[in-house]
Amino acid sequence: MKYPFRNEPPTDFTQPENIDAFRRALAAVRAELGKTYPLYIGGEKIYTQDAIVSTNPSNPAEVIGRVSAATPELASRAVETAAQAFENWRRVRYDERARYLFEAARLMRLRKHMFSALMVLEAGKSWIEADYDTGEAIDFMEFYGREMLRLGPAQPTAAPPDREVELFYIPLGVGIVIPPWNFPNAILTGLTSATIVAGNTAVVKPASVTPVIGAWIARLFNDELHLPPGVFNFVPGRGGVVGDTLVEHPKTRFIVFTGSKEIGLRIFERAAKTQPGQPWLKRTILEMGGKDAILVDETADLDAAATGIVAAAFGYQGQKCSACSRAIIVADVYDALLAKIVERTETIQVGDPAEGPHVGMGPVIERAALAKHLEYIVAGKAEGRLAFGGQAIPTATGGYFLQPTIFTDIPPTGRLAQEEIFGPVLSVIKAKDFDDGLAIANNTEYGLTGAVFSMRRDRLERARHEFHAGNLYFNRKCTGASVGAEPFGGFNMSGTDSKAGGSDYLLLFTQAKVISEPV
Ligand code: NAP
Repeated sequence: MKYPFRNEPPTDFTQPENIDAFRRALAAVRAELGKTYPLYIGGEKIYTQDAIVSTNPSNPAEVIGRVSAATPELASRAVETAAQAFENWRRVRYDERARYLFEAARLMRLRKHMFSALMVLEAGKSWIEADYDTGEAIDFMEFYGREMLRLGPAQPTAAPPDREVELFYIPLGVGIVIPPWNFPNAILTGLTSATIVAGNTAVVKPASVTPVIGAWIARLFNDELHLPPGVFNFVPGRGGVVGDTLVEHPKTRFIVFTGSKEIGLRIFERAAKTQPGQPWLKRTILEMGGKDAILVDETADLDAAATGIVAAAFGYQGQKCSACSRAIIVADVYDALLAKIVERTETIQVGDPAEGPHVGMGPVIERAALAKHLEYIVAGKAEGRLAFGGQAIPTATGGYFLQPTIFTDIPPTGRLAQEEIFGPVLSVIKAKDFDDGLAIANNTEYGLTGAVFSMRRDRLERARHEFHAGNLYFNRKCTGASVGAEPFGGFNMSGTDSKAGGSDYLLLFTQAKVISEPV
C-alpha cells in the first residue's frame, strides 16, 4: 500500500535556488516553442494539415506551438478506437491502473517546473499560480490512484450468512474529457486520470487556447508512461467543430466537462438525447461557472478580509471559477474595508509573468476576453462607481493586459453582480446588515464558492446552513481548494456538484455491480 496521500508542497519562490531553477525551466521551454504536436488515436500519432496555433497572451507574436486539429471524422474515429481499447483496459486490475497513475505523477514531478513554465507562457499564469496548477495535477493523480485502491476490491454489503455477496465498482466505457483553459494542467489531468484509473478509456479534447499543455500531458501518458494504446486518446479541435460529434456519438458512455454554463448546458441537452444504436443513458459530469461572493460583517478582521478578497478577486487575473467577483460588505465597515481593498490592489504588479515571481497579475487569456472585460467595465460605469483600474495596459508586445478593476455601489441585481465576467473585475456591493448580505450572496443562479468573514459564531452557523454554495469558507478566501481536503464542485447553474478531489468522485466514473450466490 502506498504511503498516505499528501498534497504536493508549493515551491518557495523566495529562495534563490528555486528562482534559478524556474528561470532555467522557462529557458528550456522557450527552446521548444513553435513545435508541431500530433493527435493520439489508438497510440498512433496523427498530424493534420489544419492546426491550432497557440500563442503567448503576454506577447501574441510568440508562437507556443502548432497543435494538430481533429475533424469530426477523426473525433468519431477516436471514440470507436477508445471503445475497442475499453474491452482490454476494463479487464486490467484496479491496482495496476493505479500504478500507472502513480508513475504518471512521478514523471510529471520530475519536470514540474517545465510544466509550470509552459503555463506561464501559454496561459499567462504567474509563477505561483502555475506552480499550484502543476501541484494540483500531481495531487489528482496521487489521490485518485489511492481512491482506486480503496474502491477496487469487493465492497462490503450487509449480506446474511447464507449468501456470499460482492459489490464491485466497474467502469462505464468511453469517457469524453472536455476541460477549460484556466487550469490547463490540473483540470485536464484530473478529469482524465479519474476516467482512466476507474477503468474507462478517454477521448480528451483540450481547450483551444491552451492546447500545447494538453499535448505535453498526452505525450507523457502515451510516449513516456506507455499506457496501452487507445486508453488516452487526444483530439484537440475547436469545440464548435468536434464537440457535438464527441458528445453525440452512440459509443460515448459519459462526458466529463468543466467550462462555461452555456457549453455545459449544451452538452447536458445533447447527451440526454439517445442516438440510434446507443444502448445506455449517457452520464454527464458537468462543472460550470460561478459568481462567487465574499461576505464581510462589522465584526470581521478587516485586514484579513481585504487580503482574502484581493487574492481571490485578482489571482490569475480573476480567471478562476472560484474567483471572488462580488465583495458584499455591511454598511458599518463598507468604507473602511473598501479603502483596505484598494490599498492592497494598488500594490499588484501587472506584467509579463515570465519576468519573475514578483509579477502578481499577467495578461488575460485572449484578445476576445480583453474586449469582453472592457465591455463589462463600460457597463460597470453605468451601474456603479469605478474605484480602481478600468483600463487596458498597452505594451510594446500587444499583450492582453488589464488593470485590476474595482467597482463600488454595484446594485445586487445589476449585470456586474449577476453575470460571470471571468476577469479581473470586482464588484463591491453594500449590504444593510448580515441578513441582507446573506440574501444578496444567494441571489444568483450560480452556487460554486463563497466565503464569510465574521467573528460571530451565530452568524457563521447561519451561513453554514443558508449560504448556498458547493464550497463555503469561513474567515479565508474563496479560492484555493486543496485536493483531498476540500473536494470541489458547485450547486445550481455551477454544475453537477461532482466534488473533484473528494472521496465520492471516482464513483461518478463507475457503476456498481452486485453478485450474489448461496453458500
Ligand atoms: P468554455 O468556453 O465553456 O470551454 C470549455 C471547453 O468546452 C473547451 O475545451 C471548449 O473547446 C469546449 N467546447 C466549446 N464548445 C463546445 C461544444 N459545442 N461541445 C463540446 N465542447 C465544447 O469555457 P472556458 O472559457 O474554457 O473556461 C471558462 C469557464 O470554465 C468559466 O465559466 C469557469 O467558471 C468555468 N470553470 C469551472 C470550473 C469548476 O470547477 N466549476 C473550473 C474551471 C473553470 P474550445 O476551447 O475549442 O472552444
